[in-house]
Amino acid sequence: MAILAACGSSGSSTASTTTSTTAGTDSSAAPSTSTTDEVAAEADPSPDTSTPAAAPSELQLQHVALGFVSAYVLVRGTEAAIVDTGVEGSGDAINDALSMMGLAPADVRHIVLTHNHGDHVGGLGELEAAMTNATVYAGAGDVDSIQTSLNLAQVGDGDEVFGMGVVGTPGHTVGSISVFDTDTGLLVAGDAINGDNEGGITGANPNFTPDMDTANASVAKMAALAPRIAAFGHGGAPVTEDVTAKLAAIA
Ligand SMILES: [Zn+2]
Repeated sequence: MAILAACGSSGSSTASTTTSTTAGTDSSAAPSTSTTDEVAAEADPSPDTSTPAAAPSELQLQHVALGFVSAYVLVRGTEAAIVDTGVEGSGDAINDALSMMGLAPADVRHIVLTHNHGDHVGGLGELEAAMTNATVYAGAGDVDSIQTSLNLAQVGDGDEVFGMGVVGTPGHTVGSISVFDTDTGLLVAGDAINGDNEGGITGANPNFTPDMDTANASVAKMAALAPRIAAFGHGGAPVTEDVTAKLAAIA
């Protein structure tokens, strides 16, 4: 079950509420407040949600709002993954989000690029100098246009990154990919879907998507995963309510 912390400067909400999971065994520490959106997710909804602590190996999601586009920091214990890097100039905000989670650039092992558009890969150049332990991932069809000094790997259906499954979700671009964590139900979908800034989900944006038929088929593919949290590139914070039904309605 996902718990989404309130966004804002007040830090007014409990960021995470977790109990038993299949993932972690050590409940010693977890970031508990944040000034940006944070989703902590657990494997299994438990009737006891009274313990405000997260096991270190539990997947946590930090939404990095970069104006019109979003990037994400995913953390498991002392390691992190970045999904998308925003436009050029976004590096500081992403590093700040990482720091807020108690980690440093060297702790980032994976940088997933959902697709090759400039508002998703633009910050890579600023991040890669310090994220020297990271491998960059992109889908076939998009990977060849990615420039990086880091190791670059092509991934697609069946591959795993940071304990998450890679899902080919083409249409917005030929090589669009999403990542899905089966334990938490977290889907990070890039521009294969969008938010409406009000908790709703829409399909790929037809103004920037050359193959809408394929994009819609990708939405159906995502709905079939039955995600419980949907994160996307544009349209606000991750959606945590009725995600699968909303995707199915689009598809
Ligand atoms: Zn795009």
